[in-house]
Amino acid sequence: MPDIALLGLILAAIVIGYFLGWRDQRKRRGDDSGQLSKDYFVGLNYLINEQTDEAIDVFIKALDINNDTVDTYLALGSLFSKRGEVEKSIRVHQDLLARPSLTSIQSFQVQLALAQNYSSAGLLDRAESILIDLSRQNHDLRDQALKQLLRVYEQEREWDKAADVAERLRRTRGEYFAIILAHYYCEQCEIALKQNDRVTARRLIRQAFSRDKNSVRTSLLLGQMEFDEGSYKEAIKVLQRISVQDISFMPLSLPLLEKAFEHTGSLRGFGAYLGRCLNERPGTAVIISMTRLLVRESGESQAVNFLTAQLDRHPTLRGLNELIDLRRQFQGDLPDNVLALIHRLTDRMLELKPVFSCGHCGFSGKEMHWQCPRCHNWGAVKPIQGFEGE
Ligand SMILES: [Zn+2]
Repeated sequence: MPDIALLGLILAAIVIGYFLGWRDQRKRRGDDSGQLSKDYFVGLNYLINEQTDEAIDVFIKALDINNDTVDTYLALGSLFSKRGEVEKSIRVHQDLLARPSLTSIQSFQVQLALAQNYSSAGLLDRAESILIDLSRQNHDLRDQALKQLLRVYEQEREWDKAADVAERLRRTRGEYFAIILAHYYCEQCEIALKQNDRVTARRLIRQAFSRDKNSVRTSLLLGQMEFDEGSYKEAIKVLQRISVQDISFMPLSLPLLEKAFEHTGSLRGFGAYLGRCLNERPGTAVIISMTRLLVRESGESQAVNFLTAQLDRHPTLRGLNELIDLRRQFQGDLPDNVLALIHRLTDRMLELKPVFSCGHCGFSGKEMHWQCPRCHNWGAVKPIQGFEGE
């Protein structure tokens, strides 16, 4: 058992002990014996010896749960839950719920905690039914139930239900849920596209933009749809908006944008767009795209000059990699074997590096996630900036 968790449990036990002692004193003024205190010490002994099942039994038996001790029991349930002992936490919460003396707010809190237990145990149906029931009550804590319900639907990937709940939260909580809603509509749109239902997909795109007009993800999806339908100019228009919506996501749009420009026969237009982006933020993806365009349009030496100048100002590993590749292909100033060696090294270094990271919790990886797998924030995972990134 981790020391901090054990310390927490003992603290909880001491708090329970305080209440027991206090109640005991009140009773002793009447005609009761000191039985409760004895039970308490037996329970504490079990707890210290990590026989937590027995400890819970003794504590629960020892105590008539009343309005003064519910918070302590909730804390105990939460400690078990944090330690991953979900079953014990469920027992504490179920026992609390069986008490008729709970106030309405206490009953709501205990049910929220129990739903959380069921979610962590993977019993999503049970969590869902409690939370739906709570979300129908006109209660101060209702938004908390709705937020938990959202997590259940996210885990089940039931995006339409998640969207219904988020629409309710948006009315009271505003902007944050509008941004999340755009992601839910995008999730549904991706499913519609897989089923080749383009009418539904279009409707979902409109819904996503109506909630978050700066949704990069929606622009990417729409850009891909326009491209697949052969509307290259529309695709270009949509994809170029991304540099205004959030320029740090712009690298994601470049491969498709280049193809769309190719189809319209206007690579010069692509160059002009890259030039504008370069002025705004000289990222590696833009620099490399521009370099490759220059190789095709103006020849190798211009491309090498451009890239060398850019790397002087904005040195990145991927840029260096590109330069070595280019020089090896076209000029060969350095002995090939040396260049090959350097290239292998930089390749290897790049292979080991994560490409995306979460600005919220620091999670990083090689794959793009619209919802961070660690902290579950939407849109927080972005391409990494700096020397080893963009
Ligand atoms: Zn995160």
